[in-house]
Amino acid sequence: MKFSLNTRNSTTHFTSVLAAFVIGSFSINAYAAKVYSTGAFSDSSLPSSKMDTKHSDDKQPSPLVLNGVFTQGALLRGEVPKNATVTLNDSAVSTNRDGKFVIGFDRTAPLEHTLTVTLADGSETVRHITLEKREYNIQRIDGLEQKMVTPPASVTQRIKQDNINVAKARSTNSDLDALFTRFTWPAKGPITGVYGSQRVLNGVPKWPHYGVDVGAPTGTPVYAPVDGIVTMAEDLYYSGNTLILDHGMRVFSTFLHLNSMTVNVGDRVKKGEQIGTIGETGRATGPHLDWRINLGKMRLDPQTIVTGTPQ
Ligand SMILES: [Zn+2]
Repeated sequence: MKFSLNTRNSTTHFTSVLAAFVIGSFSINAYAAKVYSTGAFSDSSLPSSKMDTKHSDDKQPSPLVLNGVFTQGALLRGEVPKNATVTLNDSAVSTNRDGKFVIGFDRTAPLEHTLTVTLADGSETVRHITLEKREYNIQRIDGLEQKMVTPPASVTQRIKQDNINVAKARSTNSDLDALFTRFTWPAKGPITGVYGSQRVLNGVPKWPHYGVDVGAPTGTPVYAPVDGIVTMAEDLYYSGNTLILDHGMRVFSTFLHLNSMTVNVGDRVKKGEQIGTIGETGRATGPHLDWRINLGKMRLDPQTIVTGTPQ
């Protein structure tokens, strides 16, 4: 990981950047995939309303706070002074009323990025971000019956409609700032699948696995990892009973293969509130929770925003 900062405009007074980022790596299961954890991510290192207060007391607020794990698949959370503008590789990044923002890097994102913060007085801070490249586990399985590889024609219409409904459930752009609080694991159990791994069935690469799987018996409670609004609670062909929570600023959690769902679309749920139970509905090979994180359409790794293990 490499990190550098240039302050282009000599009229800025910032001598240092308040940046908190930690990379820890641990290997967890048979996939032996490299997984990154936010490790020592503490609540106080997160942009929060508490920090806003601190900033207003301070005559020289930091131009940029950026929290997260600098790898492919990461969701990074940041904060800039109010009224500053942010661009990532020359594309505008929206900030909320407190100057908080979120950026994501998908599974195979390029490794080099430039984040530019422009303050109200026109001064610019440029941060070069270098992401760590990840190795994903690729599993080849040959000699499968073809019906196991491609779904029957009778369900293609249903799958199409499912995809439309899921896209709709992830299209809201609410001003909740739940995503700037600490995420907790939504269920207890061993991690049995990680983000990014992929199967090649009879030589045909399938969609990579975009969630983190927690294996536990049917009926094990599933809790909201942070506050959110339910935007989907529906039975889908592949993912079975599927819940989607909007955490604000286009960040969504999705929970797949649930046995039961105990909330409804439109419900506001609190962090730690039970939302359903683990199951094996849809095309699942045994009871487990598959938890996914999206930034809009971008599929990101939940393990870049949650600390520790789901035990
Ligand atoms: Zn899964």
